Amino acid sequence: MQMSGSDLSLYVHIPFCTYKCPYCHFYVVLDKEPLKDLLLSALLKEIVLWKEAIYGKKLVSVYFGGGTPSLFGAKRIQKLLDAICQVNPIGADCEITLEANPENVTVEAMRDFLHAGVNRISIGVQSFQDSELKILGRKHQSSVAERAIFATYEAGFQNISIDLMYETPTQTLSSWNKSLEKIPTLPLTHLSLYNLTIEPYTPFAKKESELRKLMPDEETGGQMYGKAIADLQSCGFEQYEISAFCKNSLFSRHNIGYWIGRPFLGLGPSAFSFYETKRFRNVANLTRYAKLVEDGKFAIDFTEEISPGKRKRELLALHLRLMQGVDLNDFGTLEDETVTSIQKLEELELLCHKKERLYLSKKGIFFYDHVASELL
Ligand code: SF4
Repeated sequence: MQMSGSDLSLYVHIPFCTYKCPYCHFYVVLDKEPLKDLLLSALLKEIVLWKEAIYGKKLVSVYFGGGTPSLFGAKRIQKLLDAICQVNPIGADCEITLEANPENVTVEAMRDFLHAGVNRISIGVQSFQDSELKILGRKHQSSVAERAIFATYEAGFQNISIDLMYETPTQTLSSWNKSLEKIPTLPLTHLSLYNLTIEPYTPFAKKESELRKLMPDEETGGQMYGKAIADLQSCGFEQYEISAFCKNSLFSRHNIGYWIGRPFLGLGPSAFSFYETKRFRNVANLTRYAKLVEDGKFAIDFTEEISPGKRKRELLALHLRLMQGVDLNDFGTLEDETVTSIQKLEELELLCHKKERLYLSKKGIFFYDHVASELL
C-alpha cells in the first residue's frame, strides 16, 4: 500500500439508473440512450482536457462508478479506456472496476466488459433478504443478486466485490446473519459494508421519523458490524479497512488511494477530484457538464484549496481507517493539537501504538467516527 510520486487514479461517473432508490444521494439521471451518447462524447473531450495531468503518470486504477455504469455498455467503456490509453498507456496491473446492479448482469454482458478491459466488478447487492431490498426500494431480489455474482464469475472475472448494507429498516440481527451466511457460498473476493445513513433531500429523509422506528438501534448496529467482522474472517476474508474485506490480498486499489492520499481525477457530472493541493467537483448536471466540456472548458463548479496543516490532519484520519495503521515518521512534525488528540484517543483506548506505528484499537474500529472527529 505504498504510493509513488507519479501515481494517479481516475474516477468516471456514469450517472444512469433505471430508477432512483429512495435513500440515494448520488447524482443520478434516468437511463436514456441519447443521454448516454451525450455523456460519452463529453467524457472523451474531458479526457483530452486533462491530458497534461494524466500524461506520464502511473495509472493505478480506473473506477467506473455511478449511477449504474453497467448500463453504459461495453462498447462505450471500451472507447473511454482507449481514449485514456491514447493519453497515457494503461498498464496490465491497473485495476479497472465497473459498478453493476444485479438486475442488469448477464454472462454475455459481463464477458463484453471483460473484453473491453474491465478486470474488477462491484455489484450493488445491499442485502440477501427480499423484504429488506423492497424497503430499500431496490428492484432486484436476493436470487437475482446470487445469479448476477455467478454470471460475473462465469464470464471470467476473478475479482468480484459486493456491497452490503446494515442498520436498514426492519433488519434484525437474525436477518443480517442470514445475509452473512450467503457469503461463503459465493465466488467473491471483496466485500464493502455500509450502514444506512439518511441523507437530506432524499425520499427517505421525508419519512425519517417513521423509518427510524424500524431501524436497528445503535447497540444492535454495533453487534451487526461485529458479527460481520467475525463471520467474514472465519470464511477467509481479511479486514483491511474499517468497512472493506478481501481475499487473496485483492484490496480495492482504487479505494486505498482515497485513504492514503493518492491524487485522483474525477470525470463526468458531479465527480470529485483531489489533485495537487485542491479538492474540486464537476457540476452535477449532465447537460451543463456536457456543454462546458464540449466548449473546451473544465466543468468544475466547486474548488477547495487545502492547507498543508488541514491536509495532514485529514490524511492521518483517513489513513487510520486502514488496519495496517500509519507510520508516524511519514507525517513529519505533527501540530501540538494533533499530538494532544492522539494522546487523548490512546487514553480512551481507541488508538494504540507499537513503536512509531499508530493503529485503531479493536474498540477504535467500532468508534472510528469519534477518532476522525477528534483528529480533524
Ligand atoms: S442503483 Fe445505486 S446509484 Fe442508482 S439510484 Fe440506486 S443507490 Fe443510487
